[in-house]
Amino acid sequence: MTPVGDASAGLDPLRDGVPLGPPWSAGVTRGDDGAVRVAGLDVREIASRFGTPTFVLDEADLRARARAFREAFDAAFAGLGGGADVYYAGKAFLSVLVARWVHEEGLRVDTASGGELATALLAGVPGEAIGLHGNNKSDAEIDRAVAAGVGRIVLDSLPEIDRVADAAARHGVRAPVMVRVTPGVHAHTHEFISTAHEDQKFGLSLAGGQAAEAVERVLARPELELLGLHSHIGSQILDVAGFEVAARRLLELRADVAARTGYLMPELDLGGGYGIAYLGDEDVPPVRDLAEGLADVVRRACADLSSPPPRVSLEPGRAIVGPAMLTLYGVGTVKEVQTGAEHGPAVRAYVSVDGGMSDNIRTALYGAEYTAALVSRAGGAATRPSRVVGKHCESGDIVVRDVDLPADLRAGDLLAVPATGAYGRSMASNYNLVPRPPVVAVRGGEAVVVVRRETEQDLLALDAGYAPGTRAVPGLGS
Ligand SMILES: *Cc1c(COP(=O)(O)O)cnc(C)c1O
Repeated sequence: MTPVGDASAGLDPLRDGVPLGPPWSAGVTRGDDGAVRVAGLDVREIASRFGTPTFVLDEADLRARARAFREAFDAAFAGLGGGADVYYAGKAFLSVLVARWVHEEGLRVDTASGGELATALLAGVPGEAIGLHGNNKSDAEIDRAVAAGVGRIVLDSLPEIDRVADAAARHGVRAPVMVRVTPGVHAHTHEFISTAHEDQKFGLSLAGGQAAEAVERVLARPELELLGLHSHIGSQILDVAGFEVAARRLLELRADVAARTGYLMPELDLGGGYGIAYLGDEDVPPVRDLAEGLADVVRRACADLSSPPPRVSLEPGRAIVGPAMLTLYGVGTVKEVQTGAEHGPAVRAYVSVDGGMSDNIRTALYGAEYTAALVSRAGGAATRPSRVVGKHCESGDIVVRDVDLPADLRAGDLLAVPATGAYGRSMASNYNLVPRPPVVAVRGGEAVVVVRRETEQDLLALDAGYAPGTRAVPGLGS
């Protein structure tokens, strides 16, 4: 697990209890009374003030992770191409306050839509510290990005080159761009697959020659400033082997272009995808090792190619915000189910919580694994095989597929699922017309609402058939 600086240093074990450790954020502790605190604030108080489900963000932990990336990459790349830039991948979770906090810790912000771009700008992140991605950027998104003077637009297709160049011409500026390359490397956790051709929607293929063609077309448009090549090879990656193959392939293209045209692209972006602990037993390399590993990969590849090293950038999302949040749920129905299964438990407790696939789609979508714990009190010693499910009309509405939970777990308890900060709230939906949960940040025992809870009024405000005040509905405020 990534050591995260001083996030837990201010904890007082007598007052705050014992840190739970990974996969919980550094400020999560259990007190003598058996109840859990986040950064010194009791989850029972969080639930009574903000309701459940609620995403609880440990602000100091988030900041420490951002700072750890910044410092590790500064140190590892100091002697190589002049340093490294760390972009926080906003799609993992973005709000005005979170964009501001990671920027204060020295990160830039990557966006992939008009909404993310607007949020980063509203946070006060300067345009030059923002990147724009996307395989299908609209004219309006390109125009906004150019008008905001973003530090880079990552080109994802051949037609986009002229669209961005034309927008730059309209604004009378030179737009900095990168070319997103599909290098034929896919990484997932422990394995990576190296292929030639790619059957997916992102980027320009290296093997098919499209990436080289894109570079030529960009160089032919004086309204564009070609910063370099970009690749993003996957997610939840726990070693540098996949990055090594991708970096080499991109650096080879960079050297070829320099030999052919005399233009040496000054930058290289290796994307995001750094893994985190979801269960606590994963072997997650410290961010320092990752930084040194990537620096080593770039140093060796450039030496082999006799090319001066580029300035490197990277785009962690999950690794910054994922471990910093937990989801706090209220427990409702608890059922014992005879599974009739040949493998696995004969009896399983189905623990229903007051959210589900609307606030965490990753289990259903990717088979992602999570754990959970009773947090409002110490449970009894006996545990039993359990499954945490939501309240939605879908049997695949599972939050945690397999976890041992106290056998005395009952309605009214609070349950928490750690490491839900990335792709949780940001992928949340209104399935079953359920309002989406808030994000509440805690620091030093004080809570701040980062995103407020959605209400039924918010949902009905979009419903053209609803005229406020015309019909009394029990429980619906006016
Ligand atoms: C998703 C994505 C990221 C962030 O990925 P994480 O797994 O959250 O680190 C970075 N760059 C690009 C281009 C992405 O699509």
